[in-house]
Amino acid sequence: MAEEVGRALGLPLSPGRLAAGAGAAVLAMERATGADRERAAAYLETLFLKAGIAAGRMEEVRRCLYRMHGERHLWCSVADGTGAALDRLRQAGLRLGIISNSDGRVAAALEAAGLRHHFDVVVDSALVGVEKPDPAIFRAALEALEVAPAEALYVGDLYEVDVLGARAAGMEAVLLAPAGAIAAGECRAVPSIGALADDLLQGGLC
Ligand SMILES: [Mg+2]
Repeated sequence: MAEEVGRALGLPLSPGRLAAGAGAAVLAMERATGADRERAAAYLETLFLKAGIAAGRMEEVRRCLYRMHGERHLWCSVADGTGAALDRLRQAGLRLGIISNSDGRVAAALEAAGLRHHFDVVVDSALVGVEKPDPAIFRAALEALEVAPAEALYVGDLYEVDVLGARAAGMEAVLLAPAGAIAAGECRAVPSIGALADDLLQGGLC
């Protein structure tokens, strides 16, 4: 994103400078209200503002990101150790599913990231016509997995969207959040999928 947006704006913009605003961008996303589209916009705008891009150039930033997102799903970075942790969970006999507020491309994005094969079920909001936090989308995944809500655990990174939505569908929920995230005091929280796998396989959350 740094390279392409920098080129489009005719400004030098390094990945490191863009990444420096990631903490502030996560906070802006947590504080934003509305659907995931608004939260994603708050995240991205904060990221570029913190990198020193003038507010008056945000429309150009948005246009560039929109074009890039059309070419390949921008929400595609995978934290280290995620695939190995998913392997461990599956080997322990758990059934895994994805519930994503997306645009119909989440299965392809998972495939591109090399993660699709870990999941029994992938539910994409654009394909089922309902999005988190509506409990209906959580129920759709549970039905496809043939798992009762009380036997399921949901992990997601937005408290109001993921944790409250999953609870409304009768599931326990865990927040995927860095230490110090504003909602982490409201529920169980883990810093990574690897840490969640450790907790689950040691019986900490089951
Ligand atoms: Mg999320």
